[in-house]
Amino acid sequence: MKKDNCIFCKIAAGEIPSTTIYEDQDFRVILDIEPASKGHALILPKEHYANLYELSDELAAKALLVAKKVITVMTDVLGCDGYNVLQNNGEAAGQTVFHFHMHLIPRYQDDNVNIKWNPGTISEELKEEILAKIKEK
Ligand code: AMP
Ligand code: ZN
Repeated sequence: MKKDNCIFCKIAAGEIPSTTIYEDQDFRVILDIEPASKGHALILPKEHYANLYELSDELAAKALLVAKKVITVMTDVLGCDGYNVLQNNGEAAGQTVFHFHMHLIPRYQDDNVNIKWNPGTISEELKEEILAKIKEK
């Protein structure tokens, strides 16, 4: 289903113009308007899902295949040195558009794109606690 007033629904449906670099029955892949690097693209499903939790298993699997296909071609097209494939779920995780999308960010040696965090630590107790909670599920 489409969602009213969702910009990515409109872009995916072709109602709002975009620079489309790949399209199939389920997805449209567009260039990001505020790219982190040259060639930054977004995979958009044509139906509305707010995030990965909502995405069907079938589309979730297909999205990664689209990512693989597109970055393989684009690595050659752009001559980039690597790729980040990333996807934000929820405001706390940096999601700003609440229609599932996967970022494909080409990386160039010394490009200064900032996708980093400060390495933390994990105690034995916390590992045990997490594993115990998983077992309860
Ligand atoms: P996120 O922060 O993961 O929700 O990412 C949203 C992304 O959508 C950002 O990288 C924006 O630059 C991009 N974006 C927002 N509006 C548009 C648009 N109309 N066309 C292309 N990209 C967009
Ligand atoms: Zn939508």
